[in-house]
Amino acid sequence: MRNVVIIGSGCAGNTAAIYTARANLKPLVISGHEAGGQLSLTTLVENFPGFPEGINGPELVENMKKQAQNFGAEYLAGNVVDTDLSKRPFRLNIEGEWIETRTLIVASGASARWLGLENEQKLIGHGVSSCATCDGFFYRGRKIMVIGGGDSAMEEANFLSRFGSEVTLVHRREEFRASKIMLDRARNNPKVKFLTNTMVEDVFDVSQNLVTGVRLRNVKTNEAWDQEVDGFFLAIGHIPNTKVFKGQIEADAEGYIISKGGARTNIAGVFHAGDVQDRVYRQAITAAGAGCMAAIEAERFLEAEGH
Ligand code: NAP
Repeated sequence: MRNVVIIGSGCAGNTAAIYTARANLKPLVISGHEAGGQLSLTTLVENFPGFPEGINGPELVENMKKQAQNFGAEYLAGNVVDTDLSKRPFRLNIEGEWIETRTLIVASGASARWLGLENEQKLIGHGVSSCATCDGFFYRGRKIMVIGGGDSAMEEANFLSRFGSEVTLVHRREEFRASKIMLDRARNNPKVKFLTNTMVEDVFDVSQNLVTGVRLRNVKTNEAWDQEVDGFFLAIGHIPNTKVFKGQIEADAEGYIISKGGARTNIAGVFHAGDVQDRVYRQAITAAGAGCMAAIEAERFLEAEGH
């Protein structure tokens, strides 16, 4: 029987682990299918306070893990495949093995949606990014491309226009999902060029371990061409990792956990932290803060129950 199980080992999960470990609760962290979370997919992080020279994302998240382990947190590689949160202790199935816990911190994140192209996957962190706030700065004076037709794509295109020499927004249809105001803002931005009815077929150049260009195709005319690009940003949505809690933890239509205030969910003793609930800020520092909140709430919950 565990006092605290934390699902997810990104900024939120690791911070929750540091706090609950320091409270002597011996947390167990289930690392999940993207161990280290979104930070493990980035390169230099320059906006996490405390690192004036910046720090590499994977190193930052690994440091957090070590810090938690130093205080007694345990890590288990694996995925949660099933849960029973209908009564306490809560039960979690980790790839076939059931474990029990008095409290649960869900920090399972939201995974960026990718196009799924082989070379796109190989160039993540080397010109391919799903986070304009994190990586835009590296493309000062360079050619940037943003993929997507929703609010995120508009927001990212506008944000990236501060850095890039030009920003091309590529969308697969003629109509946009983005709200009118966000779309107009991007349309009125002289640095943002729109390419509609256009799909990305390939990203180059894996042999240089660097994005140098893309192959595009107009779906109406079937015309294909190559275009030079330095920074390739995906803004085609995120998928919160909440499938295993479906019907138990209250979530919105897209699967994001609905907060019941602080770090509380609809289930007493189950807390949320980070991107699994936050579709707005999605930053390493806000996730870390949310992990701290969830840990403090779990600690108080256990104390109130006499553990
Ligand atoms: P979204 O609204 O779901 O839009 C995703 C976009 O990506 C759509 O245009 C979609 O194209 C495209 N897309 C999806 N899969 C694709 C694929 N495989 N290949 C090419 N294109 C693909 O996601 P979002 O923009 O991240 O927004 C999510 C939510 O957050 C929305 O509710 C949004 O309003 C909100 N948000 C608000 C703000 C703000 O107000 N400041 C900022 C960001 C996000 P189709 O249209 O063809 O499906």
